Amino acid sequence: MINIELKNRHYEILEIVKTQGPITSEHIASLLNVTRSAIRADLNLLTMSGMLEAKPKVGYMYIGSVERQKIADYLNAVRVGDLKSRPVAITDTTSVYDAVVTMFLEDVGSIFITNEAKYLSGVISRKDLLKAAIGGSDIHQIPVGIIMTRMPNVVTVAPADPVVEAARKIMEHEIDALPVVEEIFKDGQILYRIVGRFSKTNITKLFVDIGNKLGGGLD
Ligand code: ADP
Repeated sequence: MINIELKNRHYEILEIVKTQGPITSEHIASLLNVTRSAIRADLNLLTMSGMLEAKPKVGYMYIGSVERQKIADYLNAVRVGDLKSRPVAITDTTSVYDAVVTMFLEDVGSIFITNEAKYLSGVISRKDLLKAAIGGSDIHQIPVGIIMTRMPNVVTVAPADPVVEAARKIMEHEIDALPVVEEIFKDGQILYRIVGRFSKTNITKLFVDIGNKLGGGLD
């Protein structure tokens, strides 16, 4: 698709074709109170830029909806597993103090917590740690397992989930990140192995990627 600078006349034509297409150039011209030749160049430009399609004997059709569909298809095809980052996890016996240090060193806003067997048991965020720190207890002594948000309340995603689904979970639960997990069935129990991290940063990166792709067309 060619990027062009649209003028008022182009927008008027696009609106007419959007609402009344397929429509002939004579009809468009009459609605604009101009001659057909007055809009010939504009129609050519809009057709060449991929916004309108000229069908012989039928007229002009708006194909902006095709572009929209392409964006929707592209978004639906991107899975959590394609974008996920490396997870940062500590065990539930780690002290609050060490969790704060890990948060600084790893430059993340939340840390996933595992039990002894290394399966997901909770998550801890900046605010959880701040709360514990101002609570007056000895942060060298309290283990994160005591203050974390624990299973089954941890919201997770699977690598095969669409990113749109993960973004919806982040919004709905007002959280910054989700552990990406694989379910393991063991002794009649479902256990969650952490295989990644999906956060608002991953969504921001995807947003920039889509912007770049749209600049050059989505194909
Ligand atoms: P912040 O503390 O910076 O506001 P969040 O918004 O991610 O970070 O966390 C808010 C609360 O939600 C915290 O109590 C945290 O333990 C909890 N939380 C964070 N991530 C999840 C998750 N994936 N599932 C369930 N609860 C979570």
